[in-house]
Amino acid sequence: MSERLVIIGGVAAGTKAAATARRRNAGARIVLLQEEADVSYSACGLPYHLADLDRIPRSKLIARPPEAFRVDGIDMRTRHRVEEIDLDRGSLRVCDLQADHVYTEPFDRLLLATGARPKRLNVPASPDAPPIAYLRSIVDADRIVDRLPDIRRVVILGGGYIGLEAAEAFSRLGREVAIVEMMPRLLPAFALPLGQAVEERVRENGVELFMGSAVSGLDRKHVVLDNGERISADLVLVATGVTPSTELAAAAGITLGHTGAITVNAEMQTNLPHVYAAGDCAESYHRVANRAVWLPLGDVANRHGKVAGTNMAGGRAVFPGVLGTAIFKVFGLAVARTGLGEAEAVTAGYRPISQVVEVPSRARYMEKSRNLLIHLTADRASGKVLGCQVTGDDAADKTIDTVAAALWGNLAVEDLADLDLAYAPPFLPVLAPVQVAGEVLKKQVGAMQG
Ligand code: FAD
Repeated sequence: MSERLVIIGGVAAGTKAAATARRRNAGARIVLLQEEADVSYSACGLPYHLADLDRIPRSKLIARPPEAFRVDGIDMRTRHRVEEIDLDRGSLRVCDLQADHVYTEPFDRLLLATGARPKRLNVPASPDAPPIAYLRSIVDADRIVDRLPDIRRVVILGGGYIGLEAAEAFSRLGREVAIVEMMPRLLPAFALPLGQAVEERVRENGVELFMGSAVSGLDRKHVVLDNGERISADLVLVATGVTPSTELAAAAGITLGHTGAITVNAEMQTNLPHVYAAGDCAESYHRVANRAVWLPLGDVANRHGKVAGTNMAGGRAVFPGVLGTAIFKVFGLAVARTGLGEAEAVTAGYRPISQVVEVPSRARYMEKSRNLLIHLTADRASGKVLGCQVTGDDAADKTIDTVAAALWGNLAVEDLADLDLAYAPPFLPVLAPVQVAGEVLKKQVGAMQG
């Protein structure tokens, strides 16, 4: 009899694994248990959906409805929550939330794709405090949409990428927006000039910033800060980060790593070879830091899912690791990074050297040319590229992806300066932004070495 493959969680990693396992093994029995009613949707698209409900309706965020999985012979059970893993018996305790019925589900191979969830706000709130919202799932977005008619002013807690994307979405809807960030500046993992560029852009677009103070409570239509300031709000959106959903795994004795996410090997196996983990609940190996990291990102979740699905179904695939490449946009400004920032490079045992350059994205005389800020980091001893951060209105994606490819190939800054890239004035200046950054840093590395 064919093996019974059971997957917990059905957004990015879980559905990717299910579809991959089906392709790999037409006869496998595949069960997917998903607590939410929706599966296979783009959480990454939620801010864009909120900003423009007509152009990006809810339905467009859903890549495949449950029925499409069923047609492929995947036993897709939505509104089913797994409550316990019994490793000795090889079974799960599952609650069918619709029928309010608890049953036992056996498995031969299990995948945990339980994802992550937002950190909850835990401060005193009076009965007339503004309502609290989160933006993690499609149902969170539905709740915000329902409240929109009553919202004039939104206070967003957390100035990370989700807080910033949400700030833009609410601004586009004509709402007043304020962001409260506990740190003294936005995006502290980014080099100062890049963080400042983001702050400037956000302020220019009418978003108020309150930085360096935390929220101490909510009272009558206000957010109260620990410095005593009070900010009026019709809605409080909490975007203060996420934590991996690992309670089920931990309770079953599956090993968690130093990040709090599930430890996996390159085949996405946990400490138990027949139990896999993928997506936001699992760690990844960082190729530059040479250690396990937790990077809750959609592209990583998909790649994890593909590897886990292949291996569960009897194939052999290996996850090659991550570089920490990520990008987002706020009010037209792209903010991107790959590899390690300077402080992270020190923690990883390197002696880094960095340089910021400001360069045009295309030939200066071309109408679409905009300045990019590039912060490039290399290892002093070897000259190897360690990481890059970019902000700009144009070509930041191409710049960061070029450096990501260089990092993947273990290139040095002088290689970056010498890359043979496609040039014509509408696309790049004669020396590409990455080449200029590489050239400037190459000279510094040379001076240190010689
Ligand atoms: P999740 O999406 O968290 O899904 C896990 C699912 O498992 C959930 O539906 C949950 O209900 C279910 N589950 C958990 N426990 C159980 C249980 N016990 N029983 C049954 N079901 C269970 N990433 C990017 O790379 N780029 C972006 O631009 C980007 N933008 C984003 C914007 C927003 C607003 C958000 C919220 C996320 C964004 N992300 C982005 C992150 C990306 O969406 C996540 O990395 C991705 O959704 C992770 O997928 P996952 O399948 O691992 O986990």
